[in-house]
Amino acid sequence: MINNLKEQDKQYIANTYNRFDLQLVSGKGSYVYDQNGKKYIDMGTGIGVTAFGFADNMWANAVKSQAETLQHTSNLYYTEPCVKLAKALCKKSGLKKVFFANSGAEANECAIKVARKYAADKKGEDCYTIVTLENSFHGRTITTLAATGQEHYHELFKPLTGGFVHTPANDIEALKNTVKQHKVAAIMFECVQGEGGVIPLTSDFVAAMAEEARQNDILLIVDEVQTGNGRTGEMYAYQNYGITPDIVTTAKGLGGGLPIGAAILGDKVEHTLGFGDHGSTYGANPVCCAAALTVVERLTNELLEEVKQKSQYIFDTLKNASGIEYVSGMGLMIGIKTVKPAAEVVKAAMQKGVLCLTAKDKVRLLPALNIPFDDLKQAIEIIKEVSAI
Ligand SMILES: *Cc1c(COP(=O)(O)O)cnc(C)c1O
Repeated sequence: MINNLKEQDKQYIANTYNRFDLQLVSGKGSYVYDQNGKKYIDMGTGIGVTAFGFADNMWANAVKSQAETLQHTSNLYYTEPCVKLAKALCKKSGLKKVFFANSGAEANECAIKVARKYAADKKGEDCYTIVTLENSFHGRTITTLAATGQEHYHELFKPLTGGFVHTPANDIEALKNTVKQHKVAAIMFECVQGEGGVIPLTSDFVAAMAEEARQNDILLIVDEVQTGNGRTGEMYAYQNYGITPDIVTTAKGLGGGLPIGAAILGDKVEHTLGFGDHGSTYGANPVCCAAALTVVERLTNELLEEVKQKSQYIFDTLKNASGIEYVSGMGLMIGIKTVKPAAEVVKAAMQKGVLCLTAKDKVRLLPALNIPFDDLKQAIEIIKEVSAI
């Protein structure tokens, strides 16, 4: 055991993360333990990643078994896990083909490349603009930062990749004007802006984006990196809105704790990328795919119904509670606007054994989809208690 772990972390790890004053050493399901053996109920799942909790049996067995069989081959050879997973993702989305990446940002990079090539082939090389929304989040690479509609992420890293314009969320007139003013290849958005504060888009606005896209042969890219894989009570959040995207990107919960991202391609773009147009050494890694398959296979209607019921419980319990202004979000992707500063609430909850996240000025909850009801109730009671004024 390292006894000055925090000092050594500060010395040897790049200082990009402002960590909580907490060391985690093990977990099981929705419980996670610190170095003193103190137990916490986890309401953050490593930012929406461990979709079925820590050290989940099915997941761990699949990882172990694949690791002991064939852990990596590169994409020069056929392997089974990636085909099984791709087939499952196509079935669940109704889309046609999958490109596997290793993270959300990379899944989005793929979507952006597909959109640029599709538009260049079809509408000419000057048609490359991608419209994204203000307050969006699409990743940390130089290109996905450019896609991200939050200036404070951009400031230190200019020049960013060109070809992105941002339009305000839920403003249909502004959207129409933006589309008129540019040669637009794609519109890209999150159905629920996660990092932006857990804010769902209005149905009217999502319908308007779909309609603009349809009228102008513009691709619709839905970033489901955070909202996908059952998080909002549907397999993908766009299914709550009744639209059909051309490209869906996902990551976070997909691998249940191993790094994997996917760009899922619809009819229009299934043949856009050819040999050599894109690639990834780790992409479609057998261990990650075997792990992801145990997540995707469990996202049944029954499980999704349970997610909706748990969501309703959270909304009902917190809605009119003391110190809580309002609750936002969808499914088990919850934002809580507290009167007290969010960071203060999160810290107090941690002291009482509940781990939460923040998003902008909100307390954010992304619990495991299968969190037992009793644990959820206990965690919500504690959040209610520490939010009260
Ligand atoms: C987290 C997130 C990303 C970036 O994913 P990484 O795996 O960190 O690259 C992109 N888009 C959305 C909506 C996200 O929530």
